[in-house]
Amino acid sequence: MSERIILVWFRNDLRVHDNEILLEATRKADKILPVYCFDPQYFKIVETGKSTTGNFRARFLLQSIANLRDNLRKLGGELIIRTGNPAEIIPQLTAEYQVNEVYHHREVASQETAMSEEVEAALWKQKLNLKHFIGHTLYHKEDLPFPIKDIPDSFSVFKKKVERDSSVRPETDTPEQILTPAITDAGELPTLTDLGLDEPVDDPRATIKFTGGECAGIAALEEYFTNNTPVKAKAARNPQTAADNTSRLSPWLAFGCLSPRRVYFEVARHEQGHSNNNPLIPELLWRDYFRFMFKKHGKKFFNPEGFKSEAPETAANQDALFEQWCAGNTGVPYVDAAMHQLNATGYINNYARQIVAGYLVRDLKVNWTRGALYFEEKLIDYSPASNWGNWAFVAGVGNDPRENKNFIHRQVSQLETKSPFIDTWLSAHEAEQVV
Ligand SMILES: Cc1cc2nc3c(=O)[nH]c(=O)nc-3n(C[C@H](O)[C@H](O)[C@H](O)COP(=O)(O)OP(=O)(O)OC[C@H]3O[C@@H](n4cnc5c(N)ncnc54)[C@H](O)[C@@H]3O)c2cc1C
Repeated sequence: MSERIILVWFRNDLRVHDNEILLEATRKADKILPVYCFDPQYFKIVETGKSTTGNFRARFLLQSIANLRDNLRKLGGELIIRTGNPAEIIPQLTAEYQVNEVYHHREVASQETAMSEEVEAALWKQKLNLKHFIGHTLYHKEDLPFPIKDIPDSFSVFKKKVERDSSVRPETDTPEQILTPAITDAGELPTLTDLGLDEPVDDPRATIKFTGGECAGIAALEEYFTNNTPVKAKAARNPQTAADNTSRLSPWLAFGCLSPRRVYFEVARHEQGHSNNNPLIPELLWRDYFRFMFKKHGKKFFNPEGFKSEAPETAANQDALFEQWCAGNTGVPYVDAAMHQLNATGYINNYARQIVAGYLVRDLKVNWTRGALYFEEKLIDYSPASNWGNWAFVAGVGNDPRENKNFIHRQVSQLETKSPFIDTWLSAHEAEQVV
């Protein structure tokens, strides 16, 4: 009898720990074929001349794939790397390696679900099944106390009910061994140049350099516990004090280098079982919430009017205002410094994101979807549901009936201006004025 082979299609689940598709495939098949496709649609240049994926995130992705390949090799396996449309590449590989089934994790945003459907249709022609798994959230969809269509739109109601009536499933084991068929051409990791991007320049003012991959993600989680006692971490959430002292795990969570359950159980271990006392866990619930909201409401989050009857008012000269905002040239020190930091590093904290987004929408009156697209390019931790969900809320067109009450409304002129990006900005401006 011929051996059973399952192709494991990696997307935003770039890890071997707590990865259900990987474990299930090794249990259900004699051999598995791990595959990652660099899909050109994520690296195309849009009308504005900007790339869909900025170079900080692309570098992080390349590092994550390299680390995934290393980790699979340590278990005896291999990762096939290809560049091209997954709907063409995956069926080619299934034919070449006589694959019996394909496993992947289901996504929630339209571009990603459309790709799943394309791959599914192509496999269907070969009479092969694409099996969908759910594995990106802290709480499993099946364990929620309500079906997706009835998930409360209010975050606080969602949180209360989930914390009361659901529990987090244990992590799945890491496979002990991975057996792959004899692979003739595993494929090389592309370079940034191959993806049409320049090497990013690391800014010396950045307080953290994000390195992609599961190993770096696990190390960052350990570091979080070394640097933040629970009490310190709580104080750090107060925007009045130290807005910048958060976990900074988001890039690893966004690419699935780190599983949210790993974070949860590590928090539980450090908090003697009381994970909900740690401020990281409610933040992870925001992440779950936006993913479930995307599942519930689909494309509505991408429309300027969102869940309202009309979009927020826009200024007549919004093109020029938007360019000033992107370049960090609005004349408001906090906003400009945050935008400089975003452009120079690919990361700003949640507080700064809310401030610059709110400023773009409410003060400059620019169409918020332009800001969301800009973040999509620049953020190293870009994730469709978290980005577009938060933007819709800041713009006041989100689905929470309590509107954007949870978001910060501050006079930008009153904001603390202690940041190397602000100091540099101010001295550069002072110098310009002297000249
Ligand atoms: C306009 C705007 C756009 C955003 N775009 C993104 C995005 O593309 N990707 C992204 O991961 N986050 C996004 N966020 C949410 C949040 O700003 C980041 O998750 C957070 O700054 C990451 O830093 P951290 O890891 O230190 O977070 P922590 O405070 O340490 O939180 C732990 C984790 O919880 C999750 N999380 C925290 N806050 C939120 C939130 N409000 N919404 C969803 N998840 C959250 C993240 O995965 C984060 O790593 C956005 C927020 C705003 C206001």
